[in-house]
Amino acid sequence: MTFADQAFLAARLGIGMLCVWAMVVAVARYRAAGPGTGKLVLRQLLAVLVLGIVLIAFDAWDNTIVRQGDPINIGTWLWLTFDAAVPLLVLAALEMMAERDAIMAQLARAAVTDPLTGLANRRGFSAAAETAVSLCRRQDMPAAMIVFDLDRFKAINDGHGHAAGDAVLAGMAGVLRRHLRAGDIVGRLGGEEFAVLCPGLDAAGAAAVAERLRAAQRLEVPHPAGPGEAVTASAGVAELAPTGDVATSLEAALAAADRALYAAKAAGRDRVVLAPA
Ligand code: GH3
Ligand code: MG
Ligand code: MG
Repeated sequence: MTFADQAFLAARLGIGMLCVWAMVVAVARYRAAGPGTGKLVLRQLLAVLVLGIVLIAFDAWDNTIVRQGDPINIGTWLWLTFDAAVPLLVLAALEMMAERDAIMAQLARAAVTDPLTGLANRRGFSAAAETAVSLCRRQDMPAAMIVFDLDRFKAINDGHGHAAGDAVLAGMAGVLRRHLRAGDIVGRLGGEEFAVLCPGLDAAGAAAVAERLRAAQRLEVPHPAGPGEAVTASAGVAELAPTGDVATSLEAALAAADRALYAAKAAGRDRVVLAPA
């Protein structure tokens, strides 16, 4: 074999190894990919690589073994760029897919998250609550909804600025996160209104949780005016219907808890009111 043959074979071998590396990456991505989109593209990329390896191996064998002695002309050398393009383009496509997946996951998270508090937003809360309530139904357990609304929050904003108001909201979110049990679902419904779904609790149990959370909030969320004043919250509590469409029951419980919350405000704020059974 001439030196040119050897160099040609080595180049083909290198490209073949690049193909194998691209296959390793593609197979790993394929295994990690969830069901549905992406898997078809990954299968197609794998097919391209397999075909590429077969053709590259065949051509290398043909050029250097079968036609030994024939000089490898310039046109044949140029084909190496096409060969190399196969694994390189597959690797580039895999990289772009990974980037796209990461961005999609980030967007999906952002769509259900409130940026100020990091809690679930209304959409995220509803989705998580539906899952939790479905589980309660299967296990024949009750579930109850608490809706909190900070008292005279507008006065905090007006008196101390929007940033101070934001800090109070973030503080309230921290209290909810720290003091709830693992299975509880919490979200910021909007403005200064927060909701907690308590799986496994009836209205009385959830009212006790609401009181506990209010006590924690009083202690742990400082008023921007200083320790002389306290941020307070009112809450409405409603138990979910034990049967019927889950989403409808949740909406009904939210509405009932909201009415109870309104009653708590009307009765002088800084208290928990249970919705009528
Ligand atoms: P009540 O005791 O009856 O609940 O009175 P309130 O002042 O708390 O209620 P109101 O609904 O009158 O005011 C709510 C305020 O919350 C008005 C709005 O500007 C403010 N707010 C809503 N979202 C945000 C936010 O993201 N950051 C801040 N700082 N304020 C917000
Ligand atoms: Mg309020
Ligand atoms: Mg409000």
